[in-house]
Amino acid sequence: MEHPENEEQYKGLRVETSPTSPGSVNPYLNFRAKRRKPELTADQYVEGILAGDVTILSRAVTLLESTRPEHEQLAQQVIARCLPHAGKSVRIGISGVPGAGKSTSIDEFGLHVLERTGGKLAVLAIDPTSERTGGSILGDKTRMEKLSVHPKSFIRPSPSGGSLGGVARKTRETIVLCEAAGYNTIFVETVGVGQSETACHSMVDFFLVLQVTGTGDELQGIKRGIMEMADGIALNKCDGDNVERCKLAAAYYKNALHLFPTPPSGWTTQVYMYSGLFGYGIKELWDSIYEYIDFVKHNGYFEERRNNQNLYWLHETIEQAIHSRFYNDPRVIAALQQAEDDVRAARQTSFRAAENVLNTYFGLNSVR
Ligand code: GDP
Repeated sequence: MEHPENEEQYKGLRVETSPTSPGSVNPYLNFRAKRRKPELTADQYVEGILAGDVTILSRAVTLLESTRPEHEQLAQQVIARCLPHAGKSVRIGISGVPGAGKSTSIDEFGLHVLERTGGKLAVLAIDPTSERTGGSILGDKTRMEKLSVHPKSFIRPSPSGGSLGGVARKTRETIVLCEAAGYNTIFVETVGVGQSETACHSMVDFFLVLQVTGTGDELQGIKRGIMEMADGIALNKCDGDNVERCKLAAAYYKNALHLFPTPPSGWTTQVYMYSGLFGYGIKELWDSIYEYIDFVKHNGYFEERRNNQNLYWLHETIEQAIHSRFYNDPRVIAALQQAEDDVRAARQTSFRAAENVLNTYFGLNSVR
């Protein structure tokens, strides 16, 4: 008997049995208990990646973007084991200010490259603002309508790792995973602002800068540093009544490039005119990029550039690690607070105070 208090001899309150509970709040909604995916081992990650399993590749990228120490450790194991299988791709950096036509162009470039090489393409991004804006607009699948449904493309938005260095390092590590998974062309998209171009340049074989001529007659300025970094300058939107302006701009950029010494690759930076929207000039642009790749593979610069990039990332990683360990150390946090108070109250010079903070971490005697 479920409720003995309901029997004859009891005179108290009776207990009504409740109606049977409904199967579902809304029978049209098909709720399924969300099961957590079991954690994969390093072996499973590596096997999946090498087999070209896109789901496992995506999970590995998520793993390496995680800031949890146990994830970082596992991710580093996976990357180390993928490394011998990486490197066999052509890496192209594509930069341009918002509105330059990056997504339109990457969609078209991607299809062209996929058809031309018969291989697989990964589109990655470096967007240091993604943390602040709450999500990256770069590498967003919805912006690349054709590529996003192509079975041989893998699109991944920018990691949101805080500092530019952190974001860029994760993108670079994602390149390793993608290459191990058989992606033989890698696009790295970045916005044409600040240091993100330098970061992008430091991980690609060819750095393409997209420019637009704008609506007025004035030429869109290009920073000197960018001009020096560019392996190619591509003038987009060369269609309709913009063609004449494009031609003028191309002549201007060609002239400006003459003022720079020949880059260490030995390749003369080219200026291209094309239309991402209408598909004009895309084949010619890619003919030239592949010509560059052949050229630098032949003269040894391809290897040299990649080696230099590895050295750059060696130092960059050390600097980042020192920076983050230093500033997160509780002793440093306390000493820095003290130093700031001292400097504000003019009890110490900035240099002395800095020395004290540094000594707190590096274990030397205080100079106070
Ligand atoms: P992003 O911000 O750099 O990714 O630029 P989008 O690809 O979103 O392009 C910005 C605007 O420029 C959109 O309205 C596009 O339709 C337009 N656009 C992109 N490429 C071309 C082109 O080749 N010709 C013309 N006329 N418009 C273009």
